[in-house]
Amino acid sequence: MPVPGEDAFRADVRGWLAANLAGEFAPLVGSGGPGREHEFADERMAWERRLGAAGWIGLGWPESDGGRGLPWRHQVIFHEEYARAGAPARVGHIGEQLLGPTLLMFGTAEQRARFLPGVLAGTQLWCQGYSEPGAGSDLAAVSTRARLDADQWHLDGQKVWTSLAQFADWCFVLARTDPAAERHHGLSYLLVPMRQPGISVRPIVQLTGTSEFNEVFFDDARAAAADIVGAPGDGWRVAMGTLAVERGESTFGQQLGFQREFEAVLAAARANGAIDDPDLSARLVEAWVGLQVMRYTAMATLGQPAAAVPGAAGLAGTAGLAGTAGMAGVGANVNKLLWAPWHQRLGELAVDVAGPAATVGGPGYELDNAQRLFLYTRADTIYGGSNEIQRNIIAERGLGLPREPR
Ligand SMILES: Cc1cc2nc3c(=O)[nH]c(=O)nc-3n(C[C@H](O)[C@H](O)[C@H](O)COP(=O)(O)OP(=O)(O)OC[C@H]3O[C@@H](n4cnc5c(N)ncnc54)[C@H](O)[C@@H]3O)c2cc1C
Repeated sequence: MPVPGEDAFRADVRGWLAANLAGEFAPLVGSGGPGREHEFADERMAWERRLGAAGWIGLGWPESDGGRGLPWRHQVIFHEEYARAGAPARVGHIGEQLLGPTLLMFGTAEQRARFLPGVLAGTQLWCQGYSEPGAGSDLAAVSTRARLDADQWHLDGQKVWTSLAQFADWCFVLARTDPAAERHHGLSYLLVPMRQPGISVRPIVQLTGTSEFNEVFFDDARAAAADIVGAPGDGWRVAMGTLAVERGESTFGQQLGFQREFEAVLAAARANGAIDDPDLSARLVEAWVGLQVMRYTAMATLGQPAAAVPGAAGLAGTAGLAGTAGMAGVGANVNKLLWAPWHQRLGELAVDVAGPAATVGGPGYELDNAQRLFLYTRADTIYGGSNEIQRNIIAERGLGLPREPR
């Protein structure tokens, strides 16, 4: 298919969103996202299917795998228009942004043919099963075991902080398949169906009072022998490929919501007079400057060609992978270090602008947006690799400084 011109594409996206965020989907405007994933869950799953049916999922994926093969600038345009329209937070982003690119890089033709259509259609939701109670930053310590018996893997163990597991049909699980091998050796990357007797999902209540993430228990859970990405014992390489995408993509998608959140804080400061406070107005200016710095840094790093990323040749234009190719391979880590503390400071600013009203809460009170932003952003410097870990990666891989003792 010929690539449409950018202006025509923008008009197309804008027109489609205006026509479809109407009727049954009109109440979804502004819904979902951090601290609010419980909102309109069923309706947002239906919205995911509507997006898929119209071809808005997998814009950058190769056409041979069902995507639209569009350049990254078109993906930026889609995200901009999506944010501008206030379209709901996606429930399918883990499948589209993490699992899909991983299968494009490491999956077999059969796996791509079997799993990608469900992600593209918005009918198959995924979650990410990496972290465990004893393995977060130190992911190589994963202890969930998987044993191959005839035509099935048998899994036992526990994952934690598994976002959106309550909605997911499938989970990509990092599991230890060779108990004799140490650390990152002996791990495998398995595709595990969530709806089976061997899996139980227990929600974890967060500071916001809502539950986006969960504990996931595997008690002789099963996966088909063929549902392994890469070879047995090769899971670390595959898992790192997914993480390279995660850091880039998450920055890319979130940028656009940040502007909207900033504008809400600015509007609140104008409305209640907080803008006349010199300290608060200086912090508003700093927040705006930070927004510009992040935007231009992300545009510069995410637009790099992906050719330098091993295995990513077919994915030129996929924003996250491209990000890892910039800045000596640590561009996406730099982006995370820019946006996570910035977003936390915006949350602090939001409650300071609200003043004493921000302290009203507790049982019987709904959190308002400023309170939710303040509370949820505590997580920003943890998930997707904590800030300390990002600095270690930049130090060791970007600057060539001595490695930390392991
Ligand atoms: C909102 C949210 C959603 C998440 N979603 C998912 C998900 O869907 N799937 C999933 O698998 N995981 C998910 N996670 C888990 C996330 O990846 C981990 O929380 C993260 O990797 C940190 O691991 P940990 O919590 O075990 O902390 P730890 O690794 O125990 O770290 C504790 C503290 O020690 C610091 N630290 C650890 N090692 C070092 C070091 N070598 N040098 C310096 N400092 C160090 C850390 O920076 C941190 O401050 C999510 C987390 C959050 C908050």
